[in-house]
Amino acid sequence: MAEERATQPARSTGRIVKQPGALQPTPNLLDYEATCASFSWDEAARALDGLANNGGLNIAHEAVDRHLLHGRGAKTAIRWLGKGGERREFSYADLAAATNRFANALQSLGVQPGERVFVLMGRLPELYMAVLGALKARCVVTPLFSAFGPEPIAMRAELGDARVLVTTPELYQRKVAGLRERLPGLQHVIVVGETVAEGPGVRAWNEVVETARSDYTIGPTDPESMALLHFTSGTTGRPKGAIHVHAAVLAHHVTGRYALDLHEGDVFWCTADPGWVTGTSYGIIAPLTHGVTNIVVEAEFDAETWYGVLDSEQVSVWYTAPTAIRMMMKLGADAVQAHALPALRFMASVGEPLNPEAVVWGEQAFGLPFHDNWWQTETGGIMVANFAALDILPGSMGRPLPGITAAIVQRDADGHVKPVDQPGVEGELALKTPWPSMMRGYLNEDERYRKCFVDGWYLTGDLAKRDAQGYFWFVGRADDVIKSAGHLIGPFEVESALIEHPAVAEAGVIGKPDPTVGEIVKAFVALKPGYEPSEALRRELLGHARKRLGAAVAPKEIDFRANLPKTRSGKIMRRLLKARELGLPEGDLSTLESDEK
Ligand code: ATP
Ligand code: MG
Repeated sequence: MAEERATQPARSTGRIVKQPGALQPTPNLLDYEATCASFSWDEAARALDGLANNGGLNIAHEAVDRHLLHGRGAKTAIRWLGKGGERREFSYADLAAATNRFANALQSLGVQPGERVFVLMGRLPELYMAVLGALKARCVVTPLFSAFGPEPIAMRAELGDARVLVTTPELYQRKVAGLRERLPGLQHVIVVGETVAEGPGVRAWNEVVETARSDYTIGPTDPESMALLHFTSGTTGRPKGAIHVHAAVLAHHVTGRYALDLHEGDVFWCTADPGWVTGTSYGIIAPLTHGVTNIVVEAEFDAETWYGVLDSEQVSVWYTAPTAIRMMMKLGADAVQAHALPALRFMASVGEPLNPEAVVWGEQAFGLPFHDNWWQTETGGIMVANFAALDILPGSMGRPLPGITAAIVQRDADGHVKPVDQPGVEGELALKTPWPSMMRGYLNEDERYRKCFVDGWYLTGDLAKRDAQGYFWFVGRADDVIKSAGHLIGPFEVESALIEHPAVAEAGVIGKPDPTVGEIVKAFVALKPGYEPSEALRRELLGHARKRLGAAVAPKEIDFRANLPKTRSGKIMRRLLKARELGLPEGDLSTLESDEK
């Protein structure tokens, strides 16, 4: 099956080699060095329109209306696949009209530019209309994950000063109705459909949006005005509200072009929920600015359903996450190979380190490797990536995007930071400021925001190293790194070694305080179907890790877990594994999803 695919990466030790002639269509980034050397953000901005009459730059114009002006109005913008098997298609012209109606509805309610519109719903078409319509009205958008309970909703809506909430009748009743007294600033609730829930300012979508006019002129939009307020995943602590501006759309467009290799004819599917920044930057904005067909799947993860979507929709570019990939690996390559998937040509992953094993599994199962890329809520867009035309070193997150300067930095005693020139040295990953989608603030946390920037660098809080070829390798979050007998050990390296063992589906590694060596490495392991925890297996895994990593780095203790605690965006919460191990307070759990003590 692999021979039929567009790319035929040949495997050599530790490197997946791309053969340029086999890549179809021609990748957008062919000569990495030359593209980086000649890149300028000003030049790249010519791909976008800007608003007429020097009206500034608005994300929704670039994502939607621009295509109508360039004769692409009839093209499918969003193809929505509902949970019950429904399919709905929206052309760019349909989406322009729907988002105009939403912007007019906000105006008729008296909602002002700059006010905050929160969106709380599953992946329904109205979510996409509300997000883009609110951006047209120059409101600030915060999409929330629909699985949040009342407390995480209240916390974010209070902190973010929500003026409008768009939700479903069911979510309103279950989660929001009881919070209204805590949210006096929440003046309008637009409830999808016709059934109107009871409550102050509650209106039906069909009444306020469907009846609104379908023409709208976006007002002058300062590119530096706030467009999106995104909460971080809460992996390391209480989620932070990262502020993004309309100018970010340029980074979304450029990274869609280079890191996701979007071409006009693509059918693109980003599996992330818009409640997280990936689901907005790449589940809404980037693909639409490229005029591609964006697949939206309402259902949650299920491997068979996902393979069915790739197959029936002829998805060509697929952007997903390590947790989902590890779940697919658990089920094996045979399930994938029941589908031919001739259209699929590029697969990418983000959110957590992608174990080398998973990159290579992509090749075995799909005939294509997964391309890992790295970014954060704060960076607004992809910053480091493995590119379509370039070789992959499995386990590396790739190289900086054109327009982005990344470095490994170390701090001196005075707090100054210096890039480290020699390859192979571990240090903090830093990005040279500015770039268009850089956060412009943490909401109500100025001091914390300022601390991220030193000597013209943005400090990411992640540790990494760079090799002689300029590829970056993730080591761990600064908070998660283990200090054992004078060694600094990144949990990712240990976790990756463990999941190479056929019995292991997932691993989470922490440092456990130890009076002799500072910390010992402790691993929590979830097994694949068909394997049971046992003393013999524990010993086998300890031995496997020692052989792979050496005694200094290998775990000293392994515990079995049915599942590892994860954020709703699919990240292993090592801080929670550690808090539980040590009997410490569990901290903010608002983003915790699966949980098994
Ligand atoms: P919080 O900041 O609230 O603790 P979070 O950092 O998980 O949560 P996000 O902004 O969603 O919130 O995630 C960004 C982080 O995810 C990065 O800083 C990095 O630690 C991790 N990450 C993302 N992509 C990758 C990747 N490809 N490889 C390794 N780590 C990644
Ligand atoms: Mg973070």
